[in-house]
Amino acid sequence: MIYGGIEAGGTKWVCAIGDGPDDLGDVVTFPTTSPEETLARAVDFFASNGSIAAVGVGSFGPIDIRPASPTWGHITTTPKPGWADTDVAPALARALGVPVAFDTDVNAAALGEHRWGAAVGLDTFCYITVGTGIGGGGIANGRLMHGLLHPEFGHMRIPHDRDRDPFDGVCPYHGDCFEGLASGEAIRARGGSAADERMWGLEAEYLALGLVNVICTVSPERIVIGGGVMKQPELLRLVRTRLCELLAGYIRAPELDGGFDDYLVAPALGDRAGVLGSLELARTVA
Ligand code: ADP
Ligand code: ZN
Repeated sequence: MIYGGIEAGGTKWVCAIGDGPDDLGDVVTFPTTSPEETLARAVDFFASNGSIAAVGVGSFGPIDIRPASPTWGHITTTPKPGWADTDVAPALARALGVPVAFDTDVNAAALGEHRWGAAVGLDTFCYITVGTGIGGGGIANGRLMHGLLHPEFGHMRIPHDRDRDPFDGVCPYHGDCFEGLASGEAIRARGGSAADERMWGLEAEYLALGLVNVICTVSPERIVIGGGVMKQPELLRLVRTRLCELLAGYIRAPELDGGFDDYLVAPALGDRAGVLGSLELARTVA
């Protein structure tokens, strides 16, 4: 079976056809412009590429994934201009005439990593991206994490020492929440130089604080952490070190031995985790 997958990001959309990493056909990327234009480009891509059994969409959010909701498949309260209350999944289903599965970008990436990547065989794990914003999701007890809406790891409140970091934060809702202080956008807005080691020390501190909360609430067997900011050399190592210090030996498990090297890991599928996971999401509704 051949599926369609869309990693629907706030900056760009990535569309692919195939059924996994060894069979990834065409992949196209285009910028996220208006909803009409962006959806039309996705529809054109799939319509001109033969028959697909279903489409999976991993979307930026917040999104409505409550199955019984009249606005299921919509992007809801996003601050991204023009995109609040946008019909995404039902519109694609109508245009393409195939079932469409819809979940968060991070849950899709988690599904990809669970099927083919760094989380194969795990029952409970988290996938976190630190890019323009911060998002988190994953699988708990074998099922993608849903609930009231879906997890919003990026908007946790974390300690903010204003003597060390007077920056107010960039979240339009909360200012200095986790994403407000530690996202790529926060790093850019704070204006530090990428060559400044103190800046990366601060970034590692915030990421470790957020991860402590995730570990203490969700009890993941592993955390996969990706996104553009994590490409900064040495950042992952700094976060592991600080995380270990902050947990202070309280949580004892063999998975945490060895300096967290096998516990806090980069996505094995790299930048393809989201779009591959979207293909896997499609399989669930085909
Ligand atoms: P998005 O979150 O928009 O989907 P990315 O995950 O690629 O996209 O993240 C983009 C963010 O990552 C930007 O804020 C950018 O400055 C930052 N970034 C990208 N590459 C690097 C790098 N090599 N080192 C540090 N930060 C990076
Ligand atoms: Zn926030």
